[in-house]
Amino acid sequence: MTYPDTQLFIDGAWQDAADGRSLAVQNPASGAEIGRVAHAGLADLDKALAAADRGFEVWRDCTPAERSKILRKAAGLMRERAGDIAALLTQEQGKPLVEAKGEAMAAADIIEWFAEEGFRVYGRLVPHRSNLAIRQMVVKDPVGPVAAFTPWNFPINQIVRKIGAGLAAGCSMIVKAPEETPASPAALIRAFQDAGLPDGVLGLVFGEPAQISEYLIASPIIRKITFTGSTPVGKLLAGLAGKQMKRVSMELGGHAPVIICEDADLDLAVKSVGRAKFRNAGQVCISPTRFLVHNSVKADFAKALASLAEGIKVGNGMDEGTEMGPLANPRRLAAMAEFQEDAVAKGATVLTGGARIGDTGNFWAPTILADVPLEAKLFNEEPFGPVAGIRGYDDLHEAIAEANRLSYGLAGYAFTRSLANADLLARRVEVGMLWVNTPAAGSAELPFGGIKDSGYGTEGGPEALDAYLNTRAVVINNV
Ligand code: NAD
Repeated sequence: MTYPDTQLFIDGAWQDAADGRSLAVQNPASGAEIGRVAHAGLADLDKALAAADRGFEVWRDCTPAERSKILRKAAGLMRERAGDIAALLTQEQGKPLVEAKGEAMAAADIIEWFAEEGFRVYGRLVPHRSNLAIRQMVVKDPVGPVAAFTPWNFPINQIVRKIGAGLAAGCSMIVKAPEETPASPAALIRAFQDAGLPDGVLGLVFGEPAQISEYLIASPIIRKITFTGSTPVGKLLAGLAGKQMKRVSMELGGHAPVIICEDADLDLAVKSVGRAKFRNAGQVCISPTRFLVHNSVKADFAKALASLAEGIKVGNGMDEGTEMGPLANPRRLAAMAEFQEDAVAKGATVLTGGARIGDTGNFWAPTILADVPLEAKLFNEEPFGPVAGIRGYDDLHEAIAEANRLSYGLAGYAFTRSLANADLLARRVEVGMLWVNTPAAGSAELPFGGIKDSGYGTEGGPEALDAYLNTRAVVINNV
């Protein structure tokens, strides 16, 4: 299986870094170097900024129909190429091929949805209080060139949610994509290039994340920052943007509670959140993590969840039948060992897993820990791996208090047959997205984002476009 080196995409052309620097890309299933990615320096960033500035002038003046046509063509190309793109994604990130193909296909859906939504960027007319010859208009314009920073867990999806909305709104964008997983983002950008996107409208760079973010955020050309990644880095970038008074969207970490009520359909709960826990080896910001289970059903639920975890087929994502691949990088493997040791030292019981698999690649066994103390790291920091912790509760208010205890507020899940419980949970659980009696199913038309330390702004629905628009008042006296 071939894997290409990845170049920078600046002003409509693929190119090496001006100083020729590059970084190694590894396959997380084997640890082997499979390719290189160009490492941008300041000269490359200056070129990318100048191109984004020119690209914005062109793109802002295109009609919604012209923009939509190009976006829809890019979506079609993603669909046509999904099989090849999935193979790149699995080699660089590790997820099973079927999940990788699903990500490429979902990207097409998201682009298409924004291609349509771009037609619905409307202003309004507001009658003047005393003189109807004065026209008061509310107009919406693209904010300008955007800097987007995206992570390695969903290398395509995390970019497409930003560029789908930003391009539909009329912005130009520079994407700083993940150095660990560069080829699938490059394939996405190529789909837009091949669809006829004008030069400079979309740029792609890789390099030293801190250097690139500091440089782009400080540039007067950039008018908006959007970031997906960890809460600490999000706070850092929001601080840099704040100093420049620039618009910001932040899609940050989560620590999703799963509340299993005493009247829950346990089979449904185990199948839906159990499977979801191990999707992408748990490296998902909305991954179910803190399982809060009513004490009357805790033993049955824990047994069934552990049995599901034991049945997950772990292996190289390229192999037929693999259900969970390796962790994306060795940092996650080290983190899993730390979460595990800490939880066990503090009194948690290992129901299944809890160790690395083999000594090649970043494989960690699907892990279920029971009776995890509240002080354990696992119940306080985002594990971002295939580890779930279970705790019992007696009263639903107690479970809600625990769900809200952390500063995260991204996703939450609940299982109950009671309408009253569902209503209470919907009103009281502090998350940006709550799924009751169903696994998460992200879609372009539904808001996606968090509250509290999980960030602000949303990457779905009409609100996603608003994040890339300025709202202005224009008043014309018809003399
Ligand atoms: P990290 O915090 O170092 O990096 C997270 C992402 O931010 C990476 O893509 C990285 O390239 C980028 N980044 C880091 N410093 C940056 C900077 N100064 N400027 C711009 N970008 C920067 O952690 P990591 O080891 O890559 O990932 C681990 C943690 O990140 C996880 O535990 C998880 O909490 C979080 N994460 C969240 C998501 C998400 O979807 N919300 C995705 C990936 C990682």
